[in-house]
Amino acid sequence: EFMKVAAKVTSGDLVGGKGQGKVMFKDVAGIGEAKVELMEVVDFFKKPEKFRASGSRIPKGVLLVGPPGTGKTLLARAVAGEAGVAFFSITASEFVEMFVGVGAARMRDLFVQARKEKAAIVFIDELDAVGRKRGMGGSGNDERDQTLNQLLSELDGFNNSKSTIVVMAATNRPDVLDTALVRPGRFDRKVMVGEPDVFGREEVLEVHASKVPLGDDVDLKEVAMGTMGYTGAGLANIVNIAALIAAKAKRANVMQADLMSALELQTMGKLTDDHYSISRQKRLAVHEAGCALLTELLPTLEKVELVTIVPRENEPEGQIRFEYNAARTICGTFTRQYLTEQLIMVLGGRAAEELTYGPDDMSTINEAALTRAREIVAKMVMTAGMSDVKEISTRTMAYPVESGSFLKDATIQFVPQHISSATMNAADQEMLRLLQVYYAEAKHILHENRACLDAVVQKLLDQGTLVGSEVHEVMDQHGLRQSEILIS
Ligand code: ADP
Repeated sequence: EFMKVAAKVTSGDLVGGKGQGKVMFKDVAGIGEAKVELMEVVDFFKKPEKFRASGSRIPKGVLLVGPPGTGKTLLARAVAGEAGVAFFSITASEFVEMFVGVGAARMRDLFVQARKEKAAIVFIDELDAVGRKRGMGGSGNDERDQTLNQLLSELDGFNNSKSTIVVMAATNRPDVLDTALVRPGRFDRKVMVGEPDVFGREEVLEVHASKVPLGDDVDLKEVAMGTMGYTGAGLANIVNIAALIAAKAKRANVMQADLMSALELQTMGKLTDDHYSISRQKRLAVHEAGCALLTELLPTLEKVELVTIVPRENEPEGQIRFEYNAARTICGTFTRQYLTEQLIMVLGGRAAEELTYGPDDMSTINEAALTRAREIVAKMVMTAGMSDVKEISTRTMAYPVESGSFLKDATIQFVPQHISSATMNAADQEMLRLLQVYYAEAKHILHENRACLDAVVQKLLDQGTLVGSEVHEVMDQHGLRQSEILIS
């Protein structure tokens, strides 16, 4: 039974040398130094006699050191590809938990398979899982020790075999490795594979972007600049997501906006492990759909880039991303029209919840949005004098309000210094009135377009995330157009 398993592990990962799926050095980008160092291994495979004659030390074990996703596996495959030799791989952590004997047997089997080839690279991922210093960390692990011993004896046993084998192994923790492993003649070469710098990131993006149709406006440098700290895997992912966004929007080419959306989606935070109940997901979907639909219907707001109910570490409640508007962000000047629409939009989540669940079945999901609504009316009434009540609008003009940064920080304290309690009361009344009027407006708009709201909710529940164009599709189906509702 276990021999079957062992065979699957090796043959399933067998590539290289045989045309299809061959990885070459050009596929691994942004790690110039590492490639140069590994050229030596390629040379060794290509001209072993010359290599021996020159007196160079024969490479046997190469340790690729670096964080996950930086391209270590890819690099090992590329060495096999360049050298035209077979590639076998195994992930060490997979058999640490197994019954005693299985890990060692698999390790042996891996090398038996490799030796059937004339030349091969054997790649061991996560080497530290079996290669930790023995006798460390308490009770010890017989299984791991046996597997490690097996690996050591394989490393020592090449010389009497007819095939040429180089073992490559990846780890992010070279410091914990058993000293027996890094002794001369075993893993005695270390190649560092780090996170790429801005130029490296651009190269990696080029490699992956070359596999998708690109629009004229694509500027990978811009993406590279916005991805500090990203690994090759993270960058590959951005290109993949951008291609998905473009495909969903039925666009033939990936445009710069798709790449930037993908980047933004990534920076929204990692997915959490939280799994919400269906009923909670629906609450979230109703809330986000209310805001999203109003954003699309009201003319002066930045449009929806994407809306999601997928919980993320920094945004467990779902979120909307709006299209980036540099002019608006930089100037910081807002018209009354814009603020009014913002107000309606942020109240839209609560309005949608009330329409869907009824006033007696509300939740606390809207707290943050309501705080923001208060922030907006405070700005309108207290500092900008935008009030319908003439008396108040002139009297309360330009009271300095202490707030966080408008529309970003949800905390606000508006206690102006020089204000009478009468004026404060009037202003308070006016702020309350604005909240009520525009909450009613939000509810009215959503009520009029209830079928479309429900359809957006359903689509969010089905997909988790919608890009702007998908929200439009739903609106189209309900005969609604973008920016169609005018508020005075
Ligand atoms: P590691 O083995 O270091 O964890 P992988 O080699 O498995 O990383 O990388 C996963 C994927 O990420 C690769 O298959 C490739 O698509 C992409 N990738 C990672 N690093 C690079 C790189 N330097 N150049 C191009 N693509 C990369």
